[in-house]
Amino acid sequence: MGVMICFSFGGGDDHPLSDRAYWDEHMRDSLHMPNGGAAVLVNILCLSGGRLAETESQKRMMVYLAEQNQTALGLGNVDLDIDCLPWDRAHFAEDKAFMLRVIEGARQKLGWETLCDRYEPNAERVKYYLDGYQVLMERMTEADIKDEVLTEWLDWHDPDEPPKCGFPKCSKHDAYIALYGCQVCMD
Ligand SMILES: [Zn+2]
Repeated sequence: MGVMICFSFGGGDDHPLSDRAYWDEHMRDSLHMPNGGAAVLVNILCLSGGRLAETESQKRMMVYLAEQNQTALGLGNVDLDIDCLPWDRAHFAEDKAFMLRVIEGARQKLGWETLCDRYEPNAERVKYYLDGYQVLMERMTEADIKDEVLTEWLDWHDPDEPPKCGFPKCSKHDAYIALYGCQVCMD
């Protein structure tokens, strides 16, 4: 089945399948990729963001991405829709700029030297994924933030789990570790 990334996980609930205009808008710019492609996209975003995140809200974004680990959750069972990220309204503008820098860093192969003993991401595929992810990321506005996404995500974690235990990193990949470990090591 693969993984589909949309701008918004939101809708659906109160929109009948026959509402074509709604679904056309919901699916606009959506990015389809094989499961392995989604793992690669998360790998390179984690490598880039591990080197670029400075603030707590930025590190939370990277922990969220590292949780999208198909080895832990099952193939295809990840949620990369843009408004599923734990956006913090108080830091929205700087955090959106940060996410765009993470994407650009991935284009510049930030941290890829740590992958050398595993694989070399396919340049053409990576460009397609990053370009598509960037188009979706650029659509995000403060008005799209659903505050409960952040609060529910934080509530779901125990105090001794990332993102509540001081943002540990993988010593090999310099990526932020999530509940299940380092996504780059595992997936
Ligand atoms: Zn690692």
